[in-house]
Amino acid sequence: MNEPLEITDAPKIVVAIDGYSSSGKSTMARELAKRVGYVYVDSGAMYRAVTLFALRNGLINEDGLVNKEGLIPHLHNLEVSFEQKTGKDGVQHTLLNGEDVEKEIREMRVSSHVSPVAVIPEVRERMVQLQQLMGKKKGIVMDGRDIGTTVFPNAELKVFVYAGLHERARRRWRELANKGMDIRFEEVYSNLEERDRIDTTREVSPLIKAEDAIELDNGAVTHEEQMEWLIKLFQDTIERIENESRS
Ligand code: C5P
Repeated sequence: MNEPLEITDAPKIVVAIDGYSSSGKSTMARELAKRVGYVYVDSGAMYRAVTLFALRNGLINEDGLVNKEGLIPHLHNLEVSFEQKTGKDGVQHTLLNGEDVEKEIREMRVSSHVSPVAVIPEVRERMVQLQQLMGKKKGIVMDGRDIGTTVFPNAELKVFVYAGLHERARRRWRELANKGMDIRFEEVYSNLEERDRIDTTREVSPLIKAEDAIELDNGAVTHEEQMEWLIKLFQDTIERIENESRS
């Protein structure tokens, strides 16, 4: 069931998976990339890494206000990259200027400040530039909020993932609790609600379904059904492209 797909000779494509916070898009994207031997990029982790940088450097005050003028000059020196861990912990870790910050960027302190940082046009510009570089050779699955609309508007396959707020908060709370984080459900719920609000209403690249994205209501299906659906979609897309290039 989870064996890699035989697609060595197939043309490489870009897969953009967008959607709401904790809608399960990262899990899907990561798993698809693994099955088809593509690079996986969690674009949310990049915005989280910038937020951590801002917090560590005193660029976000107690009221949550971001010191844009202080942050912007650092952006061109910020390197956000990923490292694939091997062995039991076979997940991807996020690096900020070479330092493994994977654990820290998932903490609530980062979650509660990330959306106001992601609103800043200069931050988005820099992140989009890095993301487009990562996807230059195609063969990539990237998840986020604006991947199908702004980062890769020509992506061959675009998916937009929905799930109800309560279901997403439950999922996220369980994930954090499993990581040993002591956090109240209500706190997770209101953080997601607030991030949804900021992400969907910001001026630059708001969270919105690309016209040609295919929708998935992730609250209504099991993980296996989700993956089966996505892999079929991926294979159909490759087939379509192969047919187009022949004709
Ligand atoms: O995906 P994740 O929930 O980790 O993303 C954290 C935050 O980063 C989002 O709430 C959003 O504000 C921002 N983000 C974004 N554009 C992306 C990915 C994430 O604005 N492509």
